Amino acid sequence: MLVHELDLEKLNAGFETLKPQEIMDWAFREFSGQIAMTSSFGPESGVLLHMASLLDPKVPVLFLETGYHFPETLEYKESLVRRFGLTNVIDLKAEPQAKSDLERQYGQAPYEKQPDECCRVHKVEPLDRAIKGYEAWMSGIRRQQTDFRKSIRILEEYEGGVFKLSPLANFTSRDAWWYLKEHGIPQHPLFEKGYLSIGCWPCTRPIQAGDDERSGRWAGKAKKECGIHTFKELKPGGEQEPEKEAAEDIAPEI
Ligand code: SF4
Repeated sequence: MLVHELDLEKLNAGFETLKPQEIMDWAFREFSGQIAMTSSFGPESGVLLHMASLLDPKVPVLFLETGYHFPETLEYKESLVRRFGLTNVIDLKAEPQAKSDLERQYGQAPYEKQPDECCRVHKVEPLDRAIKGYEAWMSGIRRQQTDFRKSIRILEEYEGGVFKLSPLANFTSRDAWWYLKEHGIPQHPLFEKGYLSIGCWPCTRPIQAGDDERSGRWAGKAKKECGIHTFKELKPGGEQEPEKEAAEDIAPEI
Protein backbone atom coordinates (compact mmCIF):
# COMPACT_ATOMS: atom_id res chain seq x y z
CA MET A 1 0.00 0.00 0.00
CA LEU A 2 1.33 3.43 -0.98
CA VAL A 3 1.96 5.94 1.78
CA HIS A 4 0.22 9.17 0.85
CA GLU A 5 1.60 12.44 2.12
CA LEU A 6 -1.11 14.90 1.27
CA ASP A 7 -1.45 18.57 2.13
CA LEU A 8 -5.01 18.41 3.46
CA GLU A 9 -5.28 22.15 4.14
CA LYS A 10 -4.42 23.05 0.59
CA LEU A 11 -6.44 20.27 -1.00
CA ASN A 12 -9.55 21.00 1.07
CA ALA A 13 -9.34 24.72 0.30
CA GLY A 14 -9.39 23.85 -3.40
CA PHE A 15 -12.11 21.21 -3.07
CA GLU A 16 -14.52 23.73 -1.53
CA THR A 17 -14.80 25.42 -4.94
CA LEU A 18 -14.97 22.27 -7.08
CA LYS A 19 -17.92 20.21 -8.22
CA PRO A 20 -18.30 16.75 -6.61
CA GLN A 21 -17.41 15.09 -9.93
CA GLU A 22 -14.13 17.06 -10.10
CA ILE A 23 -13.22 16.07 -6.54
CA MET A 24 -13.99 12.43 -7.31
CA ASP A 25 -11.98 12.57 -10.52
CA TRP A 26 -8.96 13.73 -8.48
CA ALA A 27 -9.52 10.98 -5.89
CA PHE A 28 -9.94 8.18 -8.42
CA ARG A 29 -6.58 9.17 -9.95
CA GLU A 30 -4.80 9.75 -6.63
CA PHE A 31 -6.01 6.49 -5.05
CA SER A 32 -6.21 4.54 -8.30
CA GLY A 33 -7.68 1.07 -7.65
CA GLN A 34 -7.44 1.67 -3.88
CA ILE A 35 -10.61 3.64 -3.25
CA ALA A 36 -13.99 2.18 -2.27
CA MET A 37 -17.32 3.83 -1.60
CA THR A 38 -20.09 3.05 0.83
CA SER A 39 -23.73 3.25 -0.10
CA SER A 40 -26.94 2.68 1.84
CA PHE A 41 -28.98 2.66 -1.39
CA GLY A 42 -31.25 5.21 0.25
CA PRO A 43 -33.15 8.17 -1.23
CA GLU A 44 -30.06 10.20 -2.19
CA SER A 45 -27.67 7.34 -2.92
CA GLY A 46 -28.30 7.50 -6.65
CA VAL A 47 -26.31 10.75 -6.81
CA LEU A 48 -22.91 9.46 -5.68
CA LEU A 49 -23.43 6.04 -7.29
CA HIS A 50 -24.20 7.65 -10.63
CA MET A 51 -21.21 10.02 -10.45
CA ALA A 52 -18.90 7.15 -9.46
CA SER A 53 -20.21 4.85 -12.19
CA LEU A 54 -19.34 7.45 -14.83
CA LEU A 55 -15.75 7.54 -13.60
CA ASP A 56 -15.29 3.82 -12.94
CA PRO A 57 -18.16 1.30 -12.82
CA LYS A 58 -15.74 -1.20 -11.25
CA VAL A 59 -15.34 0.90 -8.09
CA PRO A 60 -15.97 -1.28 -5.01
CA VAL A 61 -19.36 -0.31 -3.53
CA LEU A 62 -19.61 -1.44 0.09
CA PHE A 63 -23.14 -2.14 1.33
CA LEU A 64 -23.78 -2.88 4.99
CA GLU A 65 -26.08 -5.87 4.75
CA THR A 66 -27.41 -5.84 8.30
CA GLY A 67 -30.25 -8.24 7.53
CA TYR A 68 -32.70 -5.54 8.62
CA HIS A 69 -33.24 -3.68 5.34
CA PHE A 70 -36.65 -2.93 3.86
CA PRO A 71 -37.37 -5.22 0.87
CA GLU A 72 -37.83 -2.00 -1.13
CA THR A 73 -34.22 -1.01 -0.38
CA LEU A 74 -32.88 -4.34 -1.64
CA GLU A 75 -34.97 -4.04 -4.81
CA TYR A 76 -33.82 -0.44 -5.30
CA LYS A 77 -30.24 -1.57 -4.83
CA GLU A 78 -30.57 -4.17 -7.59
CA SER A 79 -32.22 -1.68 -9.94
CA LEU A 80 -29.51 0.98 -9.46
CA VAL A 81 -26.70 -1.56 -9.82
CA ARG A 82 -28.19 -2.70 -13.14
CA ARG A 83 -28.90 0.83 -14.35
CA PHE A 84 -25.40 2.16 -13.57
CA GLY A 85 -23.56 -1.02 -14.64
CA LEU A 86 -21.79 -1.33 -11.29
CA THR A 87 -19.76 -4.54 -11.27
CA ASN A 88 -18.24 -4.67 -7.80
CA VAL A 89 -20.92 -4.32 -5.13
CA ILE A 90 -19.83 -6.01 -1.91
CA ASP A 91 -22.26 -6.93 0.89
CA LEU A 92 -20.64 -6.54 4.31
CA LYS A 93 -22.13 -8.67 7.10
CA ALA A 94 -21.73 -9.02 10.83
CA GLU A 95 -19.23 -11.58 12.01
CA PRO A 96 -21.42 -14.63 12.98
CA GLN A 97 -19.95 -15.02 16.49
CA ALA A 98 -20.40 -11.30 17.25
CA LYS A 99 -23.99 -11.48 16.04
CA SER A 100 -24.85 -14.51 18.15
CA ASP A 101 -23.16 -12.93 21.20
CA LEU A 102 -25.23 -9.78 20.63
CA GLU A 103 -28.46 -11.75 20.41
CA ARG A 104 -27.60 -13.87 23.41
CA GLN A 105 -27.05 -10.73 25.46
CA TYR A 106 -29.88 -8.54 24.17
CA GLY A 107 -32.35 -10.95 22.56
CA GLN A 108 -33.63 -11.25 19.00
CA ALA A 109 -34.32 -7.51 18.77
CA PRO A 110 -31.03 -5.95 19.93
CA TYR A 111 -31.92 -2.67 18.20
CA GLU A 112 -34.59 -2.09 20.85
CA LYS A 113 -32.40 -2.49 23.92
CA GLN A 114 -28.98 -1.51 22.63
CA PRO A 115 -29.02 0.19 19.21
CA ASP A 116 -25.41 1.35 19.60
CA GLU A 117 -24.24 -2.22 20.12
CA CYS A 118 -26.46 -3.44 17.29
CA CYS A 119 -24.93 -0.83 14.94
CA ARG A 120 -21.44 -1.69 16.16
CA VAL A 121 -21.85 -5.38 15.28
CA HIS A 122 -23.80 -4.95 12.03
CA LYS A 123 -22.23 -1.78 10.64
CA VAL A 124 -19.13 -0.41 12.31
CA GLU A 125 -17.11 -3.60 12.68
CA PRO A 126 -17.83 -4.96 9.17
CA LEU A 127 -16.93 -1.60 7.64
CA ASP A 128 -13.80 -1.26 9.76
CA ARG A 129 -12.62 -4.68 8.56
CA ALA A 130 -13.41 -3.85 4.92
CA ILE A 131 -11.79 -0.41 4.65
CA LYS A 132 -8.50 -1.73 5.96
CA GLY A 133 -8.05 -3.08 2.44
CA TYR A 134 -8.19 0.37 0.82
CA GLU A 135 -6.27 3.65 0.95
CA ALA A 136 -9.45 5.73 0.81
CA TRP A 137 -13.19 5.44 1.11
CA MET A 138 -15.86 7.76 -0.09
CA SER A 139 -19.34 8.41 1.22
CA GLY A 140 -22.26 10.63 0.30
CA ILE A 141 -22.73 12.42 3.63
CA ARG A 142 -23.66 16.11 3.52
CA ARG A 143 -22.96 18.90 6.01
CA GLN A 144 -26.62 19.76 6.34
CA GLN A 145 -27.67 16.36 7.59
CA THR A 146 -26.67 16.35 11.27
CA ASP A 147 -24.82 18.49 13.80
CA PHE A 148 -21.82 16.17 13.62
CA ARG A 149 -21.73 16.35 9.81
CA LYS A 150 -21.69 20.17 9.81
CA SER A 151 -17.99 20.09 10.58
CA ILE A 152 -16.74 17.39 8.21
CA ARG A 153 -13.98 18.24 5.78
CA ILE A 154 -14.17 17.01 2.21
CA LEU A 155 -10.95 15.03 2.64
CA GLU A 156 -9.94 13.70 6.05
CA GLU A 157 -7.18 11.41 7.20
CA TYR A 158 -7.72 8.94 10.01
CA GLU A 159 -5.40 7.14 12.33
CA GLY A 160 -3.99 4.16 10.50
CA GLY A 161 -3.54 6.12 7.29
CA VAL A 162 -6.94 5.72 5.62
CA PHE A 163 -8.44 8.77 3.90
CA LYS A 164 -12.12 9.57 3.74
CA LEU A 165 -13.67 11.61 0.97
CA SER A 166 -17.06 13.34 1.20
CA PRO A 167 -17.54 14.91 -2.25
CA LEU A 168 -21.18 15.86 -1.53
CA ALA A 169 -20.34 17.73 1.69
CA ASN A 170 -21.65 21.00 0.23
CA PHE A 171 -24.68 19.49 -1.52
CA THR A 172 -28.12 20.39 -0.20
CA SER A 173 -31.06 18.00 -0.26
CA ARG A 174 -32.42 20.17 -3.07
CA ASP A 175 -29.19 19.67 -5.06
CA ALA A 176 -29.51 15.92 -4.62
CA TRP A 177 -33.17 15.94 -5.61
CA TRP A 178 -32.46 17.96 -8.75
CA TYR A 179 -29.50 15.78 -9.69
CA LEU A 180 -31.69 12.67 -9.61
CA LYS A 181 -34.41 14.43 -11.62
CA GLU A 182 -31.99 15.86 -14.18
CA HIS A 183 -30.44 12.46 -14.83
CA GLY A 184 -33.73 10.53 -14.84
CA ILE A 185 -32.64 8.42 -11.88
CA PRO A 186 -35.59 6.74 -10.12
CA GLN A 187 -36.14 7.56 -6.47
CA HIS A 188 -36.24 5.00 -3.63
CA PRO A 189 -39.82 3.64 -3.63
CA LEU A 190 -40.39 4.62 0.02
CA PHE A 191 -39.42 8.27 -0.53
CA GLU A 192 -42.89 9.26 -1.70
CA LYS A 193 -44.34 7.63 1.43
CA GLY A 194 -42.48 10.11 3.64
CA TYR A 195 -39.18 8.31 4.19
CA LEU A 196 -36.48 10.92 3.50
CA SER A 197 -33.64 9.03 5.13
CA ILE A 198 -33.75 5.25 5.11
CA GLY A 199 -31.75 2.70 7.04
CA CYS A 200 -32.77 -0.52 8.77
CA TRP A 201 -36.54 -0.99 9.11
CA PRO A 202 -36.60 -1.24 12.93
CA CYS A 203 -34.93 2.19 13.20
CA THR A 204 -36.60 4.12 10.37
CA ARG A 205 -39.92 5.95 10.37
CA PRO A 206 -41.63 8.20 7.80
CA ILE A 207 -41.64 11.90 8.66
CA GLN A 208 -43.99 14.83 8.17
CA ALA A 209 -43.40 17.78 5.83
CA GLY A 210 -41.19 20.33 7.59
CA ASP A 211 -39.53 17.79 9.92
CA ASP A 212 -35.76 17.46 10.01
CA GLU A 213 -34.84 15.09 7.18
CA ARG A 214 -33.18 12.56 9.53
CA SER A 215 -35.75 12.76 12.30
CA GLY A 216 -37.22 9.42 11.22
CA ARG A 217 -33.98 7.63 12.11
CA TRP A 218 -33.91 6.18 15.66
CA ALA A 219 -37.01 8.31 16.31
CA GLY A 220 -37.49 9.09 20.00
CA LYS A 221 -33.86 8.33 20.82
CA ALA A 222 -30.88 10.66 21.19
CA LYS A 223 -28.98 8.55 18.65
CA LYS A 224 -28.39 10.37 15.35
CA GLU A 225 -25.49 8.44 13.80
CA CYS A 226 -25.03 4.72 13.35
CA GLY A 227 -21.33 5.12 14.08
CA ILE A 228 -19.70 4.46 10.72
CA HIS A 229 -18.86 8.15 10.32
CA THR A 230 -17.70 8.66 13.89
CA PHE A 231 -15.81 5.54 14.99
CA LYS A 232 -12.44 6.44 13.56
CA GLU A 233 -10.14 8.99 15.16
CA LEU A 234 -8.82 11.75 12.96
CA LYS A 235 -5.08 11.75 12.59
CA PRO A 236 -3.53 14.35 14.96
CA GLY A 237 -3.55 17.69 13.18
CA GLY A 238 -6.49 16.63 11.04
CA GLU A 239 -9.17 18.19 13.25
CA GLN A 240 -12.21 19.61 11.59
CA GLU A 241 -12.55 23.22 10.66
CA PRO A 242 -14.89 25.44 12.67
CA GLU A 243 -18.53 24.86 11.94
CA LYS A 244 -19.41 25.85 8.40
CA GLU A 245 -22.52 27.91 7.80
CA ALA A 246 -25.10 25.67 6.12
CA ALA A 247 -26.22 26.80 2.70
CA GLU A 248 -29.88 27.57 2.08
CA ASP A 249 -31.83 24.40 1.60
CA ILE A 250 -35.26 23.86 0.20
CA ALA A 251 -36.21 20.21 0.45
CA PRO A 252 -38.85 18.98 -1.98
CA GLU A 253 -42.36 18.66 -0.60
CA ILE A 254 -43.20 15.16 0.55
S1 SF4 B 1 -29.83 0.87 12.39
FE1 SF4 B 1 -31.01 -0.27 13.94
S2 SF4 B 1 -31.29 -2.36 13.16
FE2 SF4 B 1 -29.67 -1.35 11.92
S3 SF4 B 1 -27.80 -1.98 12.86
FE3 SF4 B 1 -28.34 -0.02 13.81
S4 SF4 B 1 -29.60 -0.47 15.63
FE4 SF4 B 1 -29.41 -2.36 14.37
